[in-house]
Amino acid sequence: MIRNIFILYEKGMESLRPHIENAVGQMMDCFPQYKGNYPIKTLGNWQSEKAKKNLPNGNVLLEPWESVEWYIGRAKLKAMEQGRWQTRGQISINQLWEDLSSDPYCKKIPQWSILVTKHDLYADGLNFCLGVSKENAFSIISTARFVDGNNRFDVEGFKTVVMHEFGHLIGLTHEGRVNTSEQLGSHCTNDGCIMQQRMDGDFSDITRIRLVAKQQYGLPPICSDCIDSGEKFFERQRALYNYTHRIFPNGRNS
Ligand SMILES: [Zn+2]
Ligand SMILES: [Zn+2]
Repeated sequence: MIRNIFILYEKGMESLRPHIENAVGQMMDCFPQYKGNYPIKTLGNWQSEKAKKNLPNGNVLLEPWESVEWYIGRAKLKAMEQGRWQTRGQISINQLWEDLSSDPYCKKIPQWSILVTKHDLYADGLNFCLGVSKENAFSIISTARFVDGNNRFDVEGFKTVVMHEFGHLIGLTHEGRVNTSEQLGSHCTNDGCIMQQRMDGDFSDITRIRLVAKQQYGLPPICSDCIDSGEKFFERQRALYNYTHRIFPNGRNS
């Protein structure tokens, strides 16, 4: 095992579990030789034993980094400060990014985390965003834009975005790669690939193509350029892992 892929989500989102696991699993299926080194573990609405502290006045304090609830609460607070919670019910993706980046658990136990929220997300300067990812670290994804007026959930559309964000996490469209362009981060330009960008946030055409490719032709959700860069990414990860474990056989990272 090189590192776990942890799936986390808010309370009440349990029904999404198989879909998130399946989306991430389909991406890892594109890299059969590395798949076994990265087990997918769902922690759900995770909280540690020390997540909550009862204060003398009867209030409950959420300890930093110890629960999904804390992360979401912080992103909501930031949104209240910026007026986005009151006007649009959104939470701040910048705050989530900052808090996940400084998570002490990630330093102790190397991991990739996928955090799914039911709240609509906004970033500084953007009306909304479906998700964001930090390479070799984490993805943050919202389900909010996949629920229609009749409370129907677009499962496949959501899965496309989970796959897309996970693709960023594993560095598929790094800057300077062939067939990429810069549109809110580096994206693939190959037709039919889920790593393309849609500036209006409408991935429905990409989802349709993904499903036809899979069901009729047994094709993966990403193009061969993306698979190539994924292979290189996993190769580098493995080399780094072998290196640190040779040098520090009993210590760091083991
Ligand atoms: Zn993207
Ligand atoms: Zn691609």
